[in-house]
Amino acid sequence: MIEVRELTKSYGPTVAVNKVSFEAHAGEVLGFLGPNGAGKTTTMRILTCYLSADAGSATVAGYNIFEDSVEIRKRIGYLPESAPLYTDMGVIEYLNFMTQVRHIPKSERKERIRAVIDTCGLEDVIQKDIGELSKGYRQRLGLAQSLIHDPPILILDEPTSGLDPNQIIEIRNLIRDIGQEKLVLFSTHILSEVSATCTRILIINNGEIVANGTPEELASQAEGEEIVHIAIRGSQEAIEASLNELEFVSQWAHVETTDGIVVYQVNAPQGSDAAEALFHVVVQNGWSLTELRQESVDLEDVFLNLTDKQ
Ligand code: ADP
Repeated sequence: MIEVRELTKSYGPTVAVNKVSFEAHAGEVLGFLGPNGAGKTTTMRILTCYLSADAGSATVAGYNIFEDSVEIRKRIGYLPESAPLYTDMGVIEYLNFMTQVRHIPKSERKERIRAVIDTCGLEDVIQKDIGELSKGYRQRLGLAQSLIHDPPILILDEPTSGLDPNQIIEIRNLIRDIGQEKLVLFSTHILSEVSATCTRILIINNGEIVANGTPEELASQAEGEEIVHIAIRGSQEAIEASLNELEFVSQWAHVETTDGIVVYQVNAPQGSDAAEALFHVVVQNGWSLTELRQESVDLEDVFLNLTDKQ
């Protein structure tokens, strides 16, 4: 539904988006994750045809961004970072206005407004003016306007920015629900945001896509080693002789000895299942295990590895 090839955009000397390529399909919730200034907004504005690219190509819902911007806009809902709301309008008045902007036939307007009120949980505030709404409700209303014409593709720029933790969870759940039926592409600079909501993640840094995969795939790409903390009651000399002999152990360090319990940090290559193997070694030697803990290498490590190098 979205196909992007080598998209490039500069502002003067700043290359904001540098040869970005990716695809996105129906039924995906795609998280666009990157630090501030990475190029997320610029990419989204190009895909929504609010900004033109310098080079590369992209199709959205089968239409070319350089040639068919009107057709594309009909098929996408867009929520920019600050929702385009008019604070002196009432909620229903605003949604009604958006049905006109989107050229929804008069006979369908009521039904569409009802549908987005239900989807976005706006029932409690339909009597209010936008100026009276909390930030969370304003964001829901922003989402409602992006859905009013029932587009197959939704592009949301930092949809949870500025919300409190409860509001963030509500918007996340809403995005997940909407993602059951539509392609949702949303940007964030917050890692937990994507791991909680997305089926796939694109990590962007300095205008370039540096990773693309499911949260699980990205975590398994993490560089580094398995690190196991282990505490054993047994002979320190015998344990260390054994650690020296174990092939999967790349390195070990004695952490402390307390009341006959010896604690070690053991490093092993990724995928060697070191914790389980160490458990068997302890059992075979008749020692007793008092603690065994594997430090997981997770998405956060991947993100930091890919984006924190400058
Ligand atoms: P993000 O959404 O990931 O925070 P942006 O796409 O907003 O990133 O910005 C990417 C880069 O382009 C940044 O270096 C930013 O300063 C620059 N930039 C964005 N908009 C403009 C603009 N209108 N004029 C000049 N530079 C811009």
